[in-house]
Amino acid sequence: MTYENLSQQDPEIWDIIGRENKRQAEEIELIASENYVSRAVLEAMATVLTNKYSEGYPGKRYYGGNYIIDEVETLAIERCQKLFKAEHVNAQPLSGSPANAAVYMAFLEPGDKVLGLKLDHGGHLSHGHSVNFSGRLYNFVQYGVNEKTGIIDMDEVRAIALREKPKMIVAGFSAYSREIDWTGFKKIADEVGAYTFADIAHIAGLIAAGVLANPVPIFDVVSSTTHKTLRGPRGAIIMCKEQFAKQIDRAVFPGMQGGPHDHITAAKAVAFGEALKPEFKAYATQIIKNAQAMAAEFIGRGYKIVSGGTDNHLMVVDLSLKGLVGKEAEKILEKIGISVSRSTIPNDPNPPMNPSGLRIGTPAVTTRGMKETEMKIIVDLIDQALNNKEDENKLNELKAKVKDLCTKFKLDY
Ligand SMILES: *Cc1c(COP(=O)(O)O)cnc(C)c1O
Repeated sequence: MTYENLSQQDPEIWDIIGRENKRQAEEIELIASENYVSRAVLEAMATVLTNKYSEGYPGKRYYGGNYIIDEVETLAIERCQKLFKAEHVNAQPLSGSPANAAVYMAFLEPGDKVLGLKLDHGGHLSHGHSVNFSGRLYNFVQYGVNEKTGIIDMDEVRAIALREKPKMIVAGFSAYSREIDWTGFKKIADEVGAYTFADIAHIAGLIAAGVLANPVPIFDVVSSTTHKTLRGPRGAIIMCKEQFAKQIDRAVFPGMQGGPHDHITAAKAVAFGEALKPEFKAYATQIIKNAQAMAAEFIGRGYKIVSGGTDNHLMVVDLSLKGLVGKEAEKILEKIGISVSRSTIPNDPNPPMNPSGLRIGTPAVTTRGMKETEMKIIVDLIDQALNNKEDENKLNELKAKVKDLCTKFKLDY
């Protein structure tokens, strides 16, 4: 069999990829869960490692021919252990949600009680929402943020934990802009005899860089995606205390998954290697500076930010004062080449498909090299677009400005 290059073999897909490449180059990415991987991470994913089946773990595979793949996975595990000071690492989870499914499977029986953050207060679907497997299989009880401050109220978490006696407490979020009190959660869990589970999908890069507190040495088990602030391939990891290593590994395989994606494991190892470098700390520091500059600029222009600011890479903008809803704002900004994601605000009066806020994050624009000055420019572009939503000429003019800014901060592919 002979194979052509992709461009010759399948021009249709080649063309679509080319157009997406151009879109990414020319548009501003503010979705808090997205990032641009390095060329090295991209290269590792597009390799022959995708051809291999390697169910099992290094040294204990169910297929032959894995003596080289074993080196890849071992390297990924060792680098991850170093990065997060983890006793045990499972590098095989295919993505964040299946990683969380494996964690629950390792520690719980169906019907067991778990405490997690409400979705509309910033939690993730896999933290107990009723439409998700988590909410269907387990008995989730939810905590939220304080109505006035927008911050998780640890006294409330403790009161709910004492009343409900959960078997596990989940800490972590998809749309929350404040530091999590890991030690506080651990204390409450110890008081009621619950397992501690941290889902650091969003902030793993900031934790790896040492600019946010690390729950790995404190919690029983920690899951994370690898493709958000960590800037790796789409995928996930689970880290735990040595005493839980066996049950976590068995829950991932054969419990939840079949063969690992070895090309992705290689790309995870590359990303961990990048995150171990001193430059990554500078990058993570700038992500937070950029988010804080952006939040201040929004507030200065009369927008409301949930909890009044940010300690991490994201913020939730409450649009209700501006007479807008999230879906409409998302569409307007798409017209000028800025991607954001609509988001609920705590106790949102509007439905989840059309919530009252926008979630905005700075990891991707920081990867492009943008700094505080550009954050102010971007907020200005957003503000102008939202204020002139009916004016097509104005929106076209803003789109040209977005493209211009992107040309000055090129992606290095
Ligand atoms: C993104 C995210 C996930 C899910 O990750 P996928 O890779 O999309 O399945 C899980 N938990 C949290 C907190 C997240 O932010």
